[in-house]
Amino acid sequence: MHYFDYTANTPVSPEVLKVFCQTEEAFIGNPNSDHAFGKAANNRLSAVSKEISGILELDDEEIIYTSGASESNNLAIKGIAHTTRHKGKHIISTALEHPSVSAPLSYLQEKGYEIDLVNILGNGKIDLTHLGELLRKDTVLVAVSAVDSELGTIQPVSRIAQMLKDYPECKLHVDATGAIGKMKLNFSEFDTCSLSAHKIYGLNGSGLLIKKKGLVLEPIIHGGNSSSLYRSGTPTLALAAAFEKALRLATDGAQENAARVKEINDIFRAFFAQFSCVRINSPSDCIPNILNISVAGVKGKAFQEALDRNGVCVSVKSACSVPDTPSRAVFAVSRDRKNALSSFRISFSHLTSDDDIKAFQLAFKNCLEEFGK
Ligand code: PMP
Repeated sequence: MHYFDYTANTPVSPEVLKVFCQTEEAFIGNPNSDHAFGKAANNRLSAVSKEISGILELDDEEIIYTSGASESNNLAIKGIAHTTRHKGKHIISTALEHPSVSAPLSYLQEKGYEIDLVNILGNGKIDLTHLGELLRKDTVLVAVSAVDSELGTIQPVSRIAQMLKDYPECKLHVDATGAIGKMKLNFSEFDTCSLSAHKIYGLNGSGLLIKKKGLVLEPIIHGGNSSSLYRSGTPTLALAAAFEKALRLATDGAQENAARVKEINDIFRAFFAQFSCVRINSPSDCIPNILNISVAGVKGKAFQEALDRNGVCVSVKSACSVPDTPSRAVFAVSRDRKNALSSFRISFSHLTSDDDIKAFQLAFKNCLEEFGK
């Protein structure tokens, strides 16, 4: 089988796994325990957090360890909405968001919050003029992804942060799950920001919420003492150390990895250019890791299943989306429901080999033939 779904999950790096096992074995104490074993674990956790702050070039932000970006997004969005509910109940987001952003927003809508979705331009970017029109004195939150998971569009999050300076009551939450390791971010511009380890060759079930110091959140998980006031539970030291390793590897190898992935993306774009039935949905200035395409007249799900039978794994929308509905992200850029229903996502890694590429091309041609194209 040939894997082209690195946006859904990356294989864990052996070095990350080693750090996890070593830390788990070396530190048996609960970091909150007041004895030598506890203190050793607590010291190690503080050192890991410091390292993470260094890698991400955090200024004075707090790191909250979570079970993944879904929890981080939920904690930030519901947490901010709850603590600012006396100031306003208006929230702005986009149609490009991952379900772990859009679903908490739907939940809040049912609780009486007003949610506006900002228009998306034909190039996949947020329409900043429209955002300016939507912002109000009672807007308490703007929630956007730095890079969306279906098209790979890079959003102007710094520009949005600048715009929000005129709205001091409005917080900015950025889902940086798709951006981490692929582009540089200035975390000090955001009030909260979500990251996930399994997108950067780290472990599943491990995420971060980077939060501005002093920003109060209503927790989702109430309970005992942890490394943060806002997320209870025994601190997961080995997961934190593994996350640090994954971040370091992603940062150190970023340039080299990006160059290889860009090379692969160029090969795929040139390959697809020869088929008139193929439409590339990912705008040209997306991150090169994602290429979203449609084959005219064939449902994305049917094409994905045909590729699977031919030994190639791709994804229809993001793995967490509602199945059998048109992609909201592809619809937002193409305004074409049929095209959105035909779309699927191919995602690359520096690990993608020439053999994988050849296998994809062969499988793709077989599938086209199967569908009479
Ligand atoms: N945001 C984006 C953009 C994602 O791609 C994902 C994972 N598919 C998530 C959030 C959720 O991350 P996790 O699996 O760590 O909960």
